[in-house]
Amino acid sequence: MATASSIAPASANSISVAAARKLDRNPSHLDVFVNKSYPLKPARYTPKTSTVSGTGIRLRPEAAGAYNKMVKAAKKSGVRVKLISGYRSYNRQAQLFNQYSRMYGKKYAERISAKPGTSEHQTGLAADVGNYNGACALQSCFEGTPVGKWMKKNAHKYGFILRYPKGQESVTGYAYEPWHFRYVGTSLAKSYKNSGAKTFEHFHGVASTKKNSPKTVKGTAKTTANLNMRSGAGAGNRVILTIPRGKSVKLTGSKKSGWYQVTYKSKTGWVSGTYLSNVSMPKSETKKKETKKPSPKPNSSSKKTTANLNMRAGAGTSNRVILTIPKGKTVKATGKTKSGWLQVTYKSKTGWVSGTYLSNTSTPKKSKPKTESSPKKKVKTKTTTANLNMRTGNSTKKQVVLTIPKGKKVEIIGSKKSGWYPVKFKSKKGWVSGTYLK
Ligand SMILES: [Zn+2]
Repeated sequence: MATASSIAPASANSISVAAARKLDRNPSHLDVFVNKSYPLKPARYTPKTSTVSGTGIRLRPEAAGAYNKMVKAAKKSGVRVKLISGYRSYNRQAQLFNQYSRMYGKKYAERISAKPGTSEHQTGLAADVGNYNGACALQSCFEGTPVGKWMKKNAHKYGFILRYPKGQESVTGYAYEPWHFRYVGTSLAKSYKNSGAKTFEHFHGVASTKKNSPKTVKGTAKTTANLNMRSGAGAGNRVILTIPRGKSVKLTGSKKSGWYQVTYKSKTGWVSGTYLSNVSMPKSETKKKETKKPSPKPNSSSKKTTANLNMRAGAGTSNRVILTIPKGKTVKATGKTKSGWLQVTYKSKTGWVSGTYLSNTSTPKKSKPKTESSPKKKVKTKTTTANLNMRTGNSTKKQVVLTIPKGKKVEIIGSKKSGWYPVKFKSKKGWVSGTYLK
């Protein structure tokens, strides 16, 4: 209680914005400050909560009482408020965050939900509210609904503040949430409102716009899912090992149709960029990446999705999901591509999808990376165990086309004949002895 006296509600009114309010990080206090940079201490803090009558949702008793008062007042003015979410335990928050991460990728999950131990909901002091008829529930259009408007105007009178205002994502760490209200007590809520501070962060003098997201380290990336490392850039290649979710991998700087060459636990191989976040290519290698980019195909063509596939607002998993295209659907490629992503049209929406989960339909002329990455058309490959001559026929008497170095992958393009395989390597076709293939 040492800090409690200095921030007693009675003195709250006298605090101006210029002299920023002192941060209170004691989770049992009603004015506790929590965000992604200021997690709860202890992380697994569990408050005393009570059920808000008629909802089955729990809040801290002080917040529950204030909430009931507020709902009654709203009802008097003809507005019916519904409680959508209140207290969430550490474990529940972990579940939610993991679920969002799986659905949208970690980067986007961080914009719309909190990691366990950093959510205001875990304090029992945050309430997500909606209209009784469910209109615009947990959507930004909620701001224009009766409850959205009423709350914006009146919530502070009951001790609630709008915690994640519009246009302040770089400060609060959250996209606009017109439905998320935080109970701080009536006197603090009023002084906050009167201060004109843009956010609770500004009010506390901690509104630095430095990124709340984890730092990106040059030459590394993080896995957002359990991720197969493969021997080549495409789902058809052999799995070397599975890298657990949330691990840091080293980028070699090589990139190919949305796949990255990485090193993890002293193994080097390829992983799909779809499941990497905070990708930061090594500096010296960035140019290499540029030249290795697959040339964009100018013609538009139809392609098939080989998995349920998120269409995003930009080329990369950090972009907003527009919709999820079911597996096996046909999409139209506009011809625009970017680091392994393709701009496509589906159901009159246009957005970007990872090329890893597309296969060609209308354009039979397939580009090499595409064939490799489509799990349907499995490419059979073998690796050379020695420097190996490719010949024009299945005998050492035939002319040498080229010598394939040891340890290279060749594509098997037909069936074996007297111990020889027809293969393709670097777009040349010929025959090699099966003795030196594995
Ligand atoms: Zn909320």
